[in-house]
Amino acid sequence: MKTNIYLIIQFMDNSAYLNFLGCNWKCKGCVRLRGWESHLSPSDVENLNKIYLESDKPKLRQNLKDVVKILKDNDAEKLYLGGHEPTTDPNIMKILKGLKDEGFWIKLVTNGSLLDETIVDLADEITLSIKALDDEIHKTYTGVSNKKTLENFDKFCQAEKIEIESIYIPGLVECGEILKIAEYIAKYNKNLRYRVDGYLSYSGYGQNATEEEVETCFNDVKKILPKAYTFASRWGRKTGNKINYAKCLYPKIN
Ligand code: SF4
Repeated sequence: MKTNIYLIIQFMDNSAYLNFLGCNWKCKGCVRLRGWESHLSPSDVENLNKIYLESDKPKLRQNLKDVVKILKDNDAEKLYLGGHEPTTDPNIMKILKGLKDEGFWIKLVTNGSLLDETIVDLADEITLSIKALDDEIHKTYTGVSNKKTLENFDKFCQAEKIEIESIYIPGLVECGEILKIAEYIAKYNKNLRYRVDGYLSYSGYGQNATEEEVETCFNDVKKILPKAYTFASRWGRKTGNKINYAKCLYPKIN
């Protein structure tokens, strides 16, 4: 069975990230506009760019059977399904079921607009992105209304497996908006985890958030949602000063 998975990377801890191609939104600062994966080393990205054109990505979409083989051959156990938007894959249910049947633990990273009961049941954890509560800001950034995402948040927010994520975008989604999202989440379920990340301008749209802006806002968010968290490092996985880049499992780069 064909999937939209075109890139598989593995972190240091036996977790792997399955990158799906295709999204139903058009975020101005979409991380995928940068090309490949921000967790890969610059030399791996350079090699990928030498071997594959942007237009080759659809041809790289892999069969589920081969995805499972790659993951098993590399002892991956925990899977993150993200990239563009995994729920736009026409076979997403079968993919989730197939991966669960093979014993993998699954975290789905999604814009939340296409979630349904079956998808929520099959995933072990879900990161749902609320880009903005104000619909005009949401439309400005993503090109679409936040109505579906908020409806699905309302429907599924009692499930402890859901966490919410927002990006602090200077000049657009600043601390006032982030705090409104935090209040909105708290009204439904104060125990939900809420991840606040700083924006990085991969696409050239807007400017990067500073660590200071994010940290200052995060301290206020924490007063509303005790389980809120943020990442100190947004590039690779840092241990001391060393960045542990992810390994590219698919496609081949040498
Ligand atoms: S929802 Fe995610 S994948 Fe889709 S355009 Fe926005 S940032 Fe990109």
